[in-house]
Amino acid sequence: MMVGSIVLFGPPGAGKGTQAGRIVDLTGKPQVSTGDMLRSAVKAGSPMGMAAKKFMDAGLLVPDEVIIGLIEERLQEDDADSGVLFDGFPRTIPQAESLERIADVTSVISIEVPDDAIVERIVGRRMDPETGEIYHVTFKPAPTEIESRLIQRPDDNEDTVRARLEAYHTQTAPLADWYAERGLLISIDGNASIEEVGSSVEAAVRTND
Ligand code: ADP
Ligand code: ADP
Repeated sequence: MMVGSIVLFGPPGAGKGTQAGRIVDLTGKPQVSTGDMLRSAVKAGSPMGMAAKKFMDAGLLVPDEVIIGLIEERLQEDDADSGVLFDGFPRTIPQAESLERIADVTSVISIEVPDDAIVERIVGRRMDPETGEIYHVTFKPAPTEIESRLIQRPDDNEDTVRARLEAYHTQTAPLADWYAERGLLISIDGNASIEEVGSSVEAAVRTND
């Protein structure tokens, strides 16, 4: 079995993607983002991508069996042998139960952000399609020279955010207790600046070393 993996947990827009690079730099573990994998499948126009897109556009979770299949395949890659950083996975108890059978999760870093802050973060999120860098119109403005190429995700609108938050509270949030019962949960305050959250994330990774 591969060595320990880390889960980056939290509501949509909590700052998981923003902080993932720091953990990758500290641990050398590759980032495995189910959201990014699904968006690649949508872009490639695969049958799985086309089916997943309907759920994503509606702000609903993609069915567990699709997600678990993606993860099983990803963990076969050589770079997963020394553990990975899961970002946006697991999002349901059945996903966590499947993960328990195929990987050793050693810590779950939960970035806590209240709903009212989430909406503003998601509606203002912009992505650089060339580098994958995540920006925010107010909180992390992009350099002017790349502004014109930035994109906004189709699901990053106010209506879809409400649906995503509801999915989070009903299907994903119960996982925090599930991991706390297993002694793996480290909660950090995500309602602070990107730098402050980064320091807390770094401290969480180091205490768990
Ligand atoms: P997630 O991966 O959890 O969905 P992101 O990392 O994509 O979240 O962040 C969502 C949006 O919020 C992005 O536009 C990002 O720039 C911004 N953001 C991330 N962390 C913070 C923070 N601590 N304060 C303000 N804005 C933030
Ligand atoms: P965010 O952090 O902003 O919610 P993600 O990129 O993690 O965005 O996910 C985008 C969408 O992809 C989700 O709204 C959901 O439809 C789908 N998705 C991503 N990861 C999962 C997962 N583990 N289980 C089910 N659906 C997922």
